[in-house]
Amino acid sequence: MDITIIGAGPRGLMTLGRLIAWQTQQTNEPIAVTVVDAYPIGGHVWRTDQPNELIMNTPAQQITLYADDSVKMAGENTVTGPNLSEWSDRAETAAYIRQQHYPQEAFFLAQTAALQPNDYAPRNLYGVYMQWVFDDMMHQLPANMTVSFIQATVDNVTPKNPGYTVTTSEQSWTADQVALTIGHYVMRPTEEEQKFSATAAANGGFYLPPILPGDTDLSAVAAHQPVLMRGVGLSFYDYVSMLTEGRGGVFNRQADGHLTYEPSGQEPHIIAGSRRGFPYYPKGYNKSIRRTN
Ligand SMILES: Cc1cc2nc3c(=O)[nH]c(=O)nc-3n(C[C@H](O)[C@H](O)[C@H](O)COP(=O)(O)OP(=O)(O)OC[C@H]3O[C@@H](n4cnc5c(N)ncnc54)[C@H](O)[C@@H]3O)c2cc1C
Repeated sequence: MDITIIGAGPRGLMTLGRLIAWQTQQTNEPIAVTVVDAYPIGGHVWRTDQPNELIMNTPAQQITLYADDSVKMAGENTVTGPNLSEWSDRAETAAYIRQQHYPQEAFFLAQTAALQPNDYAPRNLYGVYMQWVFDDMMHQLPANMTVSFIQATVDNVTPKNPGYTVTTSEQSWTADQVALTIGHYVMRPTEEEQKFSATAAANGGFYLPPILPGDTDLSAVAAHQPVLMRGVGLSFYDYVSMLTEGRGGVFNRQADGHLTYEPSGQEPHIIAGSRRGFPYYPKGYNKSIRRTN
């Protein structure tokens, strides 16, 4: 059976993990899985080349692509492995990072050495973990299963009878089954967003629509230039991080727990607003200890 998984983010990789577990327990029909994503393994949200200062909002010990005994699901759980925090603690993780030749190798090594179970890891480090998980799954493949990865955008999935034809700009192939694990759609700008864009352009500025903050090029935002931010949710904090730490500023934790900020002088002037007028509540400190038995 040929199965195509479109999307190599967390859901796509977990789908692959369940297929491996399922195939390990049955010996009759071989399966060939094709995983396809426009981005490398780990996908768009977690790409390893995004700015270092963008962090996750889930503590490292609660991030995993493996199911454990607490998950009630059909079929046995044969594909097991560490969560992000446990993976960071492993002696062999540093060697894995070195082998991949990431441009931010030194950053990833420092982060895995320092990461505590309740820390919020950089998003790009989760991307590294996902690439390791994929490699780990390849080592756990049963003999009657193959997996290949294609980095491309799928333009079309056409139902045949039976099965599907999957098409990218370069090639097309047939699949008996297709799993769509494509996450959020990238939306076309709304009428209002188009209006913002036109107004900004007419007044010598530029408008950034709601997109993944890690994808944005903020180089056109000059030091001290006024920047209007609409909404103070998660993306707001990403932009503040990129326009402060990302510009060489440093947040220092004081003895009483408060943060003070040492500017680099390269920051713009951020003017933030939201419909409610209040920032969202921050996350509380997580004190849970992971169950070990
Ligand atoms: C900026 C941001 C930060 C987040 N932070 C957290 C966090 O800290 N903790 C948390 O739990 N969740 C977080 N989330 C939620 C996050 O979306 C999920 O945790 C997780 O990534 C969802 O996994 P997924 O596999 O369903 O989708 P995704 O991770 O979005 O993966 C879908 C993949 O499908 C690919 N794809 C889509 N269409 C095609 C196509 N036509 N052809 C080929 N490939 C395609 C995309 O390139 C993408 O890689 C965050 C989301 C965003 C946007």
